[in-house]
Amino acid sequence: MKMIRSPQRLQKILEKGRLRKKTVGFVPTMGALHEGHLSLVRSADRENDITVVSIFVNPSQFGPHEDYMKYPRVLGADKRLLQKCKVDYLFCPSVPAIYPQDHATCVAVGTELARVLCGKFRPGHFQGVATVVAKLLNIVGPNRLYLGAKDYQQAAVIRRLVNDLNMNVRVRVMPTVREKDGLAMSSRNRFLNAEERRRALALSHALFELRRSLLKKKGTLASLKAQTVRKLKKTVDRVQYFEIVDPVTLAPLKKAKGKMVVLTACFVGKTRLIDNVIISLP
Ligand code: AMP
Repeated sequence: MKMIRSPQRLQKILEKGRLRKKTVGFVPTMGALHEGHLSLVRSADRENDITVVSIFVNPSQFGPHEDYMKYPRVLGADKRLLQKCKVDYLFCPSVPAIYPQDHATCVAVGTELARVLCGKFRPGHFQGVATVVAKLLNIVGPNRLYLGAKDYQQAAVIRRLVNDLNMNVRVRVMPTVREKDGLAMSSRNRFLNAEERRRALALSHALFELRRSLLKKKGTLASLKAQTVRKLKKTVDRVQYFEIVDPVTLAPLKKAKGKMVVLTACFVGKTRLIDNVIISLP
């Protein structure tokens, strides 16, 4: 695995690979890697000749009062994990390499998709995500881009970005990897103390329970949602949102339909956690 810091250098190397008709799989991350990230890396390895992973804590996707400064940065441990997978290039640019002082362009996905759910509570977040992903895709030029369903809304926004800007890349969204007890793996889980870690389980439990009830057709969406949120509130410190939405538009649903996604964001202590489940009714 070669570690590269310069965008121009990586661009040059990958251009050569493309000329030799090699396919490139790309996994963008913010580091503090776990099995969720590694599952994406393994898929990229399986499906491409060259695998590129980036680690970049993107300042433009954090709000002024969010955890940019304290976001975990553990490059040594990340490198060791990636060395066990078959990664060809690890791209770790500095902030000024991605955002030089005269950087003046950003990408906004101007649709409801980016304004609801996380978009409502993290203004500017998806603009920061879309901007950095557009830049990374221009640097790497991959055939396939690997994203996790854990960040369902982010994947939907990036799909839209790729379609709207005619980017020649296939978006592959892979399933959420969970701890044995159901907690969705997340770099932010390392902020949780033992007591918070136990309470954090309430998110996945609420989502799984709601899925079971919906599959058994036990009650209306509104009543099931109210009942689940009431229970969730007893364990977590704040439920920021809990919504049952259309999987494509992310618009809230009033009535159950064949395919639905339930998404939630909750605070446990000071840590904001997100999770979701996709529901397919028979
Ligand atoms: P992050 O480092 O949090 O920006 O995540 C980088 C990529 O890994 C994103 O596409 C995430 O959706 C994905 N990811 C994060 N956690 C998980 C997980 N538990 N399972 C699958 N993919 C994940």
